[in-house]
Amino acid sequence: MDFKLTEEQELIKENMRDFTRKYVDPIAVEIDENSRYPEEVIKKLAEGDWMGMPYPQEYGGAGVDYVTYAIVVEELSRSCAATGFTLSCHTSLASGPIYNYGSEEQKMKYLVPLAKGQKIGAFGVTEPGAGTDVGAATTTAVLDGDAYVLNGTKTFTSNGPVADTFVIFAFTDKSLGGKGMSAFIVSKDNPGLKVGQHFYKMGIRASQTSEIILKDCRVPKEDLLGKEGQGLKIAMDSFDHGRIGIAAQAVGIAQAAMDESISYAKQRIQFGKPISKNQAIQWMIADMATDISAARFLTYHAAYLKDQGKPFSKEAAMAKVFAAEMSNRHASKAVQIHGGYGFCKGFKVERLMRDAKITEIYEGTSEAQRMVIAGNVLR
Ligand SMILES: Cc1cc2nc3c(=O)[nH]c(=O)nc-3n(C[C@H](O)[C@H](O)[C@H](O)COP(=O)(O)OP(=O)(O)OC[C@H]3O[C@@H](n4cnc5c(N)ncnc54)[C@H](O)[C@@H]3O)c2cc1C
Repeated sequence: MDFKLTEEQELIKENMRDFTRKYVDPIAVEIDENSRYPEEVIKKLAEGDWMGMPYPQEYGGAGVDYVTYAIVVEELSRSCAATGFTLSCHTSLASGPIYNYGSEEQKMKYLVPLAKGQKIGAFGVTEPGAGTDVGAATTTAVLDGDAYVLNGTKTFTSNGPVADTFVIFAFTDKSLGGKGMSAFIVSKDNPGLKVGQHFYKMGIRASQTSEIILKDCRVPKEDLLGKEGQGLKIAMDSFDHGRIGIAAQAVGIAQAAMDESISYAKQRIQFGKPISKNQAIQWMIADMATDISAARFLTYHAAYLKDQGKPFSKEAAMAKVFAAEMSNRHASKAVQIHGGYGFCKGFKVERLMRDAKITEIYEGTSEAQRMVIAGNVLR
């Protein structure tokens, strides 16, 4: 058992840290305030081969392992969680299913430009009436000649307003329950796909979220992803991968909360001394340091199992629920350490506390993670 990062992983971590200092830190406040998609940063990420990290070079990726991918998502989210999530949603939720289930033709046509960051991906499974209960979805796909015709509405689709390529889930046969769901690759220029309502959010405001409306959307038969009826499996498998990214995002937010707390506590003077001299403050920071390490190890462990080709669904859920809840706890403590200033705009901890919340909700709520864990341990 080796608890050390490799030299290459350390180097990539440092490179991403430099990247965020140069390109992300300077705009993080502004893109949050304006709910603005950081297009210029995404272009730079593409130029630096960061947008398809875990995929082989022949498919446009950088060919790194999932541990390295998690390290990069953590570092990016430490600077800006919305940018970190834009990348992780694109990489694991949208590109991942095409890499894992796509035909060679689909990989060349869709994965290569996604992994190179020339195109942006989105993943649409959630519907207004189907969140945790994915099987309650009502979007249908009916085979008509050489195409499936999709009808329905997806909601909360991250990257929806900016995506070129969508992985969309629809029932080809509702009577089969979960086994009747299928996955499709749909291009933004399909006349049957429209971006609906945009959502303005509490946190990760620069990440773009919208409805996706499918109206008589004809998807060529060759853009069925995997086999008919494999959709639910593809969705659940994509969430397993995605949860490693969300756990890493939560660790990055918590790390930033601790960074800010340490620096503030050392310079804020009350009763004639820095507040860091008080045991009450020290204990909050000690708990942050301990919990962040624990969450980071859970995250790396899930990623490591994935890299070894071992089952990692339970471990990804454990990492996600633990990291998300600890991130919320400590982002709130970081505001506490900043007192009234932490509650006001202009201090990073205010944004971190808002950004942390979503990690308990998307890619399966904390309750859904516990269902996955319990399902595994009570088998
Ligand atoms: C900002 C944002 C981005 C998102 N991005 C995407 C995306 O890119 N693609 C996509 O497809 N979806 C996306 N989602 C959807 C997200 O995954 C869902 O919001 C989430 O799965 C929860 O579904 P819901 O909101 O419908 O809540 P519900 O399922 O209605 O749950 C409401 C509450 O009930 C609890 N609950 C539900 N069922 C049970 C149960 N059986 N036992 C115990 N508790 C239960 C939940 O844990 C939660 O606390 C995004 C959501 C947001 C807010």
